[in-house]
Amino acid sequence: MDFTDLKLNPQILKTIAAKGYQKPTEIQQKAIPSILGGQDIIGIAQTGTGKTAAYLLPILVKLNYAQFDDPRAIILAPTRELAIQIDKEIEEFAAFTDLRHLGVYGGTGINPQIEAIEKGLDILVATPGRLLDISKKNGINLKQIKMLVLDEADRVMDMGFMPQINRILELVPMKKQCMLFSATMSEAVERIASDFVEFPHRIEISPQATPAETVSQVFYRAPNIRSKINLLSYLLEKKYSEGKVIVFCRTKKSADDVFKFIQRKLNEEVRVIHANKGQNTRINSINAFKNNEIRILVATDVSARGIDISDVEAVINFNVPIMYEDYVHRIGRTGRAQNKGWAITFADEAEQWHLGEIEKMIKMRIPELAWPNEVEMTETPFEEQQVIKRELDYLKRKRDPDFKGAFHEKNQEKRFGKKKKKRK
Ligand code: AMP
Repeated sequence: MDFTDLKLNPQILKTIAAKGYQKPTEIQQKAIPSILGGQDIIGIAQTGTGKTAAYLLPILVKLNYAQFDDPRAIILAPTRELAIQIDKEIEEFAAFTDLRHLGVYGGTGINPQIEAIEKGLDILVATPGRLLDISKKNGINLKQIKMLVLDEADRVMDMGFMPQINRILELVPMKKQCMLFSATMSEAVERIASDFVEFPHRIEISPQATPAETVSQVFYRAPNIRSKINLLSYLLEKKYSEGKVIVFCRTKKSADDVFKFIQRKLNEEVRVIHANKGQNTRINSINAFKNNEIRILVATDVSARGIDISDVEAVINFNVPIMYEDYVHRIGRTGRAQNKGWAITFADEAEQWHLGEIEKMIKMRIPELAWPNEVEMTETPFEEQQVIKRELDYLKRKRDPDFKGAFHEKNQEKRFGKKKKKRK
């Protein structure tokens, strides 16, 4: 199938050609005709599949040209970064039309956004919280909305935005075309989908949460943070010393620690992005990384959501993500657009448990690599060991509620002495 088979208009075909796209991706082939036909859609597709264009192109065709002042299409995205990214794609795809668009999100002043809305627009990209704030100030009329997209619905749920989404659904007209996109289809997403879309056409382009085939995934058993740091510095200096690398951390603190370490140890510039960094700092860092001014980026899951960077050589998971879907999102940053990529995960004993769960989800074994001889593996400090053990106990108890845990057994032993063997 070719883009010319998709009933897109000449302006849109012109941008597609300018962007150098040869063929529609699978999700585009399946979603574009349905959306043009006015159907509600549930699209299960991860980033990197071309899902953004899959809904943007038909929306732009349907809006056709600038009309009235209130938005007729709205795209809801869970994070500012994703909203910025989508707005940028609209800018590119709508280059040969007169359609007006705007992205609104938190972290920057609300009044300039309201002023921009007042100037008139056709298509709005928004994070749910900011859209509601604008609406509360009577800064927007949502009564002309004809099309509504909820992008990365799984993440919207994980981030607890459902109350906001439900509120927004009350503000837009009942009659509209709805499109929901999600990297994974959990029961929770299924539930909101049933409120959101009517008789939807369901498009699933790959089995649930399957990572791109172009990504080679491996993991190292790393007993503690110190050893992980040693391994990270070895990989950045010896293995992935040329290409771009994103190092993912579970928490802001961990990201800051890793960032400081790399900055001290390696003789090159590195940046860190997480939720405590100002919006401009984050955008600057992402742009510097995109433009090859820096090679190494340390990130948390939320901050890296929706960033479109296609030429990352390796994703290093300094921590295993607790939200298992994040694993797929993280490694989707590499191996994009037909490039080969690496996803390397460091896992302590508790994290190996999580990794096992991730393997079940992606229906794939992640091969283990032997600890490199050159890298020092250090003893695990007592406190860190306790944290790991406690987490393991918690995980085991979650699976088997009767499991009392190593701590419990130890305490029982202390109190009552070792259990005597039962006599036969
Ligand atoms: P997405 O899944 O929307 O995050 O898109 C991932 C990347 O694929 C983006 O950089 C898009 O510009 C690119 N892309 C989208 N559609 C196509 C296509 N038909 N051919 C080549 N690249 C595409």
